[in-house]
Amino acid sequence: MANGNDLTDAQKGVYKENDAALEEAEEHLRTAQQKAYARLKEVGIDGGDESCMRCGCPEYVATPHHPLANCPREFCGHSFASHHW
Ligand SMILES: [Zn+2]
Ligand SMILES: [Zn+2]
Repeated sequence: MANGNDLTDAQKGVYKENDAALEEAEEHLRTAQQKAYARLKEVGIDGGDESCMRCGCPEYVATPHHPLANCPREFCGHSFASHHW
């Protein structure tokens, strides 16, 4: 396994690029989550942290050994991030 000291310049460059791209994606996700929550509030829904912001599933259900897998409820199936913001 390469550690931080013996990466090539090309490898370091890729980490940097990934860091910037993922940082941007996470920022978008945070913004989308805040907007989604605000939209629900506007129509009188305040389900709390656990409820799904995409379908109204009341509570995220974890999958054993895959605690961040998509919610296994049949009518939901949405991601952990859709329930937790
Ligand atoms: Zn759910
Ligand atoms: Zn859902």
